[in-house]
Amino acid sequence: MPRSSMLFPRTLLLLALFFGVALPVQAALEVECPGSVGEGEPFVVRVHSDTPLESVTIRFLGKELRPVVSEGEGRAQAWALLGIGMHERRSGSEFPLVIEAQTPTESLVEKRTIRRTDKKYEEQWLDVADKFLNLKGYELKRHHLEQEAVKQALARISPSRAYTLPLTKPVDGRTSSTYGLRRFFNKIPKRPHSGWDIAATEGTPAVACADGLVTLAGDHFFAGNSVYIDHGQGLVSMYFHLSKIEVAEGQAVRRGETVGLIGATGRVTGPHLHWGISVLGELVDPNLLVGN
Ligand SMILES: [Zn+2]
Repeated sequence: MPRSSMLFPRTLLLLALFFGVALPVQAALEVECPGSVGEGEPFVVRVHSDTPLESVTIRFLGKELRPVVSEGEGRAQAWALLGIGMHERRSGSEFPLVIEAQTPTESLVEKRTIRRTDKKYEEQWLDVADKFLNLKGYELKRHHLEQEAVKQALARISPSRAYTLPLTKPVDGRTSSTYGLRRFFNKIPKRPHSGWDIAATEGTPAVACADGLVTLAGDHFFAGNSVYIDHGQGLVSMYFHLSKIEVAEGQAVRRGETVGLIGATGRVTGPHLHWGISVLGELVDPNLLVGN
């Protein structure tokens, strides 16, 4: 090989350094996320890049989300709300988080591990009417049909985001049951409490925690009169035990708009709102998403 051609690349490199010519560098993806998350907690993942991003895909707990990419201070950025619900039977405590971004020229991948930490939740021992523990055949059938509709409502991952954080607390009132309570009905262990119970006088309006679309509204066996709102990007809010539903399926609602009136329908001991939040199907503590 002639000596000149061996020298040529090095000469170019020196020239480039001398004159400050930018050499092609590998685009980088910056990812901000917590290393560990308490059981039942929501968390935010932020992605930044100096290179324009055409799309971002986030994979976590078997779900896939494409957060909206925007420009800010000359950088591409995106964020997503994720969470780890309380699953007694989910094995393992380390879950992979994969972030894939597409630039105009290449595909970037970043991987993280989110560690789930145990969280101490209180226990609640209640005596409830037998009709809610020993469902009759037709009640069980009704409950299963309702659960199928609920499953569909929680599985929605609409592409645009209608909400901003923090969320609005749907009703003022004292907490009658916190999220995560490990419940025992007539001494039998049940699934932990999946929402936040806020006590209020019957008839008090319960409002939407953010803008969204009503995807399910009806009278359910356990939850009573219920409303489900899709806020986009996998966030769904739930309002249970209403005395009256004031919205209809398919209706767009704004943050602060009344969705129903506080009541005591379904399996309850007194008038309150059970407010639930689902993030990509994970039921997380709503209390951690409201402003102070
Ligand atoms: Zn509740």
